[in-house]
Amino acid sequence: MPLMKQATAWSICDETTTGFWTHPWINHETILEDFLQEDLSEEDLNSSVAEWTTEEGTWDWRRLNSLLPVEILALIAGTDVPLPGSGEDKHKWGIEQDGNFSLKSAYCLASDALGKEEDAIWKGIWKWKGPNKIKHFMWLVTHNRLMTNKERAKRGLTTNSNCPHCNNTEETVEHILRRCKKTEGVWNHFNFFITAQDPSQDFKTWLLNNMKDQSKGTEFGIICWCLWKQRNEEAMEGKSFSEMGLIKRISACFTINTNAVTNSACIGLVKTSNRERRFISWKPPKEGWIQLQSDGSYKRSNRSAAAGGLLRDHLGKCTAAYACNLGSCTITRAELKGAVEGLKIAWEKGYRKVEVNLDSNTAVSILKEKGDTSSNHGLLALQAKELLSRSWTVNINHVYRECNSAADFLASMGHDLHFGTHQLDTCDPKLLYWLNYDARETSQERDILI
Ligand SMILES: [Zn+2]
Repeated sequence: MPLMKQATAWSICDETTTGFWTHPWINHETILEDFLQEDLSEEDLNSSVAEWTTEEGTWDWRRLNSLLPVEILALIAGTDVPLPGSGEDKHKWGIEQDGNFSLKSAYCLASDALGKEEDAIWKGIWKWKGPNKIKHFMWLVTHNRLMTNKERAKRGLTTNSNCPHCNNTEETVEHILRRCKKTEGVWNHFNFFITAQDPSQDFKTWLLNNMKDQSKGTEFGIICWCLWKQRNEEAMEGKSFSEMGLIKRISACFTINTNAVTNSACIGLVKTSNRERRFISWKPPKEGWIQLQSDGSYKRSNRSAAAGGLLRDHLGKCTAAYACNLGSCTITRAELKGAVEGLKIAWEKGYRKVEVNLDSNTAVSILKEKGDTSSNHGLLALQAKELLSRSWTVNINHVYRECNSAADFLASMGHDLHFGTHQLDTCDPKLLYWLNYDARETSQERDILI
């Protein structure tokens, strides 16, 4: 009975030591840290499941709402809140309180494959760089929740389940976004034609592979979104588009991105009274200043950390780019190291007015010497202090990660380099893509605590 073996081997950790962010306590695939939308202090990152509950015995939504995407919040909502004082709690998914084998645990293990696919979809969508409304749209796409003619016919809303452009072909989500003859020219125009036709990739694989693509993933999502919008306008409002009209519309969407689609509905977003939706975009430094953007990256799979960053002038031109492979260290240390390496380069290049933009609150606090967190980072914090005490002007700011995408790209690149810091070619095409992405002031939506 392989299932039973797995179930027995699996009841290893008790609730008192289960890390909320770092252990797979929701199911055996999902590590919540992978879905974090904001940086947490190390202390919070290492906190236990019980620490994210309230005295009233509920999950601490006030803190959680801003930290995780709605799909993950939904998973947490569906999980029992641990009871304080009820003793060592061994209850894990599928493992009964007394550790006995149960049908429920067998089911949980047997449905493992489904869980993995779901996990891949969430990660793919959550890591996709683009407006939240398109992320939610892509989630609907991957779960076949769009009202195509096939779905409408099923519900008796129409008698014709076919695509209006392709005779005798059912209008499914895959048809609209990938197979319809009306979209061929569009995918071709944006150089996606080959993968769109690739018979070896099923629909979900095709979606996720394209969304993951570092250089073209964002455009891919926007094209899908535009195809669906166009299809709705045709079906609901009787409008018609030429292929060229559609291509122009998509190109405009790339440029103004969310501005073009702002008025569309957002699905399933968590809304609370003290939050407000704002548009976040990258802003160049003032003339005469140089901007240092840096970022850290942590891969849980091999417990490795990396950092990267770049310097940009007031015109948005990149004058230096770097990435570091930091081996095994924490994400906070990686964020801090990224900033320190960037400051060294800025000093060596003779810049004396530097604006430092980081998306890690903890790193910003350490650099500004707020709180006592700097003591945990010993030499590195001292090094930062020494750099900042030199005769130059350095302003340190926290920015949202939505406008730090070029630095994020470089930090990820650090994992593939040798240990240490490397200065990189500022003309690397992939880097240029992310620089343009930022320089277009691509607005991104974000719910912000007010
Ligand atoms: Zn069609």
